[in-house]
Amino acid sequence: MIFKKEKFLGEMTIKNKTFKTPGCLVYVRGGMVPHLMNDNLKTLNLGDLWQLSLETIYELPSLDVMECFGKSFHEYCCLKDKILILNSQDSLLQNPSDIFRYNEEKSVSIWTPGGRRKVTPKDYMKFLKVFQFDVCIPLSDCIPPNLPKKRCRKSADRTIRFLDECLKIKIDQKIDSPVLGVIEGGNSKEERERCIKEILKKDVEGFVLSGFNYYLPNYKELLHFCTNFLPKDKVKFMFGILTPDEVINAIELGVDVFDSVIAYDCTDRGCALSFKYNTKKKYAERSHSFSNSNGCYHNNNGVEFKTNNHIAKCGKNMEDFEMDLHESRYFDDLQALVEGCSCYCCIQYTRAYIHHLLVTKEMLSSVLLMIHNLHHWMNFFEEIQESLKENKFTELKEIVLESKMI
Ligand SMILES: [Zn+2]
Repeated sequence: MIFKKEKFLGEMTIKNKTFKTPGCLVYVRGGMVPHLMNDNLKTLNLGDLWQLSLETIYELPSLDVMECFGKSFHEYCCLKDKILILNSQDSLLQNPSDIFRYNEEKSVSIWTPGGRRKVTPKDYMKFLKVFQFDVCIPLSDCIPPNLPKKRCRKSADRTIRFLDECLKIKIDQKIDSPVLGVIEGGNSKEERERCIKEILKKDVEGFVLSGFNYYLPNYKELLHFCTNFLPKDKVKFMFGILTPDEVINAIELGVDVFDSVIAYDCTDRGCALSFKYNTKKKYAERSHSFSNSNGCYHNNNGVEFKTNNHIAKCGKNMEDFEMDLHESRYFDDLQALVEGCSCYCCIQYTRAYIHHLLVTKEMLSSVLLMIHNLHHWMNFFEEIQESLKENKFTELKEIVLESKMI
């Protein structure tokens, strides 16, 4: 893995594929982008760096099947031209408060369709080797905020030990996939610092800032504190559901790579990302006014009811950045989801049609929303890169923050 960065703009090269930063990995479950097929993906410019969540593929297929198949997981899923990054954590499971108790000194627990599985570094690296993933994000002990210092220390200790074991197996078994260092330690500055200093002594090719994707009370300060210790010439990843303003803030603090899980979360709530980010475009008055949001829905019997559908899986309120297509006011709204959006969904279909698909529970609603949401989120990163090149990053930041103020 090669990484070059000048100010905020960088380039990461893995196996002859170059990826521009600040950038976004494609979030993948079970070997495919949720709700979409290869034909749908042709309408999107997603890039070749895909991030797979361990729990959606562990034992599915089994190691035996893959050993018989004898080729890589890329070929198994017809993804030969992709770089696959194996992540031991799932970006969608933001709040580890339910699962961190199950992590042990020698293993991390994940939940597969077959139930709870205790994964050791040995199991993890064997899985990585048989499936031939291109980049390894080792096991780590991710914990929720506000735990006692003793538990934060344990989180850092275990994470360092898991990394050591993964690196040893990598050398012993001649696995050539680059390994990243995961930074844990919960909300404790001291433990984060200790974790970083230990990881800096090891042969890692980048860093994953873990646990910042859910609300830490001192989120910005702690992120700033951590990034100050990290070398500028190594790539920094931060995964999970982050709002656009959080992404902008993290980029300012030196983070380079994010992921697209927000598009999936948003789609599964029947919402469309609609925040503004284009510095070249003259925005008209926002055609859907959040302040006048009626928040009304109709059930199958046509009875109107109210609910809050803007809460992401991690508990963040996304209302400022998206529109909820369940709302009855879209019943006869014949505009595209987002005015001027060039995605397949916005060119062909109206808000009224997506609302109709949602109300009638048609699967196509998820396909069309996912196409739009991925397009919107990936274009946001292209716009970030453009704005940095043209010295317009502050302008873009103001446009994004405007979404929050409406
Ligand atoms: Zn669109």
